[in-house]
Amino acid sequence: MTIPDQNTRKILAVFAHPDDESFICGGTLAKYASQGVEITLVSATRGEMGRRMGNPPYLNRESLPAARELELRQACTCLGIEQLHFFDIRDKMVEFADEESLIARVSALIRDIDPDVVLTFHERLGGHPDHCAIGKATTAAHKRTGHRSHLYFITFGDMMNHPERFGYTRKDVIRIDVHAFLEAKLAAFRAHRCQTEIDEWVWLPDQEALKRFGNYEYFLKGNTGTPNRDLQDLF
Ligand SMILES: [Zn+2]
Repeated sequence: MTIPDQNTRKILAVFAHPDDESFICGGTLAKYASQGVEITLVSATRGEMGRRMGNPPYLNRESLPAARELELRQACTCLGIEQLHFFDIRDKMVEFADEESLIARVSALIRDIDPDVVLTFHERLGGHPDHCAIGKATTAAHKRTGHRSHLYFITFGDMMNHPERFGYTRKDVIRIDVHAFLEAKLAAFRAHRCQTEIDEWVWLPDQEALKRFGNYEYFLKGNTGTPNRDLQDLF
C-alpha cells in the first residue's frame, strides 16, 4: 500500500472537451506530471458534437462519445494525467447548464482534491461558448470556496506573448518552457486520432511535426494571490 505523500503537489484542470488538455496546454501538463505533480482533469463534455469523425470518417454521432472518451484516456496516459472525471454535460450545451450546480460540482472537487493549482478557461477569452462557461463556473467556484490554490487561465498559442492586446501586462502572464515535453504533446495529439487525422502535419515524421509546436505555453493569472516572483512556474 502506498501512503499518499502530504507534500505531493497537485493540479486540478477543469476544461470543456476531450482534447482541450492536449491541444492547449499538453506540454505543461506533461512537464509537471514528470515532476511527480498529481494531475486531475475534468472534461465537462464528451465532445460528442465534434464535426470531425475521423478521416476518412469511421465514426458517427452514436459512436463518437465512446471513441472520444477512449482517446482522451490514451492522451492522459501520454501526458501523465492520473485522474479523469467527466461532468457529462452535453457538448455545446455547457453555457445552458445550471450554473449553480456546475459551481457546486467544481467547488466539491476543489475541496476534495485540495489542489495547489487550478487551471481553467478565461470566461471571456475562452474562444468557445463551452470554454467560457466552464471557465466562468470554475472561477466562481474558486472564489466561493476561498481555496488557497493559485488559479490560472489557459490561453491559445502565443497570444499572451502580447498581453497588452488583451488588457494585461507581462506580470499577469506565466510562460512555461515546454520544449522538452513536445514529444509527449505530439503523442497526445495523435491519441486524439478522430480529431487530428485530418491535420496532415500531425502525422508527418516526428521531427517535422514537432516543429509546429512553440517552445512555450502561456497562462494568465486568475487571482491576486498568485505569486509574482517567478513568471516561469505555476507553483
Ligand atoms: Zn474545447
